[in-house]
Amino acid sequence: MSKTVFIPNGIITLSESKAICPECNRLIPFDEIEAKWVKQDKPFMKFKCKCKRVIVITTNMKSDFVALKLKDVNF
Ligand SMILES: [Zn+2]
Repeated sequence: MSKTVFIPNGIITLSESKAICPECNRLIPFDEIEAKWVKQDKPFMKFKCKCKRVIVITTNMKSDFVALKLKDVNF
């Protein structure tokens, strides 16, 4: 199920959350990400997982959410 989300720079359509925390392997629910995602204006954001570790959330070419290790991202 896709979903249209309004962000400061326009509108993005998100397909689904495929964001799996690289630290604890938890699938991060769409709704947990979306509330924060709509407030930022970059194509990625830092996100604190329930495992207390900070990871990076971004989207792939299909607009699915994906998660990356913080150290693997060059800001
Ligand atoms: Zn985690």
